[in-house]
Amino acid sequence: MRIRTLTGSLAAVLVLSSPLLWGGQAVAAPSVAPEQTSAARLLTYDAGGSAEFRSAVDRGAAIWNESVDSVELRPAASGQRANIRVLADNGWPRALPGSLGNGTVYIGRQAVNQGYDTVRISAHELGHILGLPDRKPGPCSSLMSGSSAGTACTNRYPNAAERAEVEDNFAGALAGAPQRTEVPAPRAVLIRD
Ligand SMILES: [Zn+2]
Repeated sequence: MRIRTLTGSLAAVLVLSSPLLWGGQAVAAPSVAPEQTSAARLLTYDAGGSAEFRSAVDRGAAIWNESVDSVELRPAASGQRANIRVLADNGWPRALPGSLGNGTVYIGRQAVNQGYDTVRISAHELGHILGLPDRKPGPCSSLMSGSSAGTACTNRYPNAAERAEVEDNFAGALAGAPQRTEVPAPRAVLIRD
């Protein structure tokens, strides 16, 4: 009876302490292989309102996950409040960033109907939420050149400078800086395109 109780307590302690252990390791060793690191700032996105663009949005998020180490985009669990909401509408694509890593993205059909690539649009708008401004006019090799690169441009990946800027924006998360998800005064400036 006493042994069983002791085992139970030990198990409880182990269960309680393992998340702390993992967290400690993550902070102490931020330079592990990109796919292995758990130090990235996790941002959830809700693509439930993105209608026919849902897979394009998932692809756009995956592109950022492939491209940077300091932040990771993951679909929000059902009922979970997401950092990023992605909606489809009939306007021009745009983003309404809040504090860094938070905001709303609109995948506008106006640009899609003109022939712009839906995955490039998705990755571009997510780029705004990750703190990047537009770089227009710009070449197709730049993700943030947006529509200025023309409808023939189907590059969906951020260039080296854009990747570095996002890494920089979220570098504080790697150093264990307090997260700023609850900042009360978001910069609610609409970024069209
Ligand atoms: Zn833009």
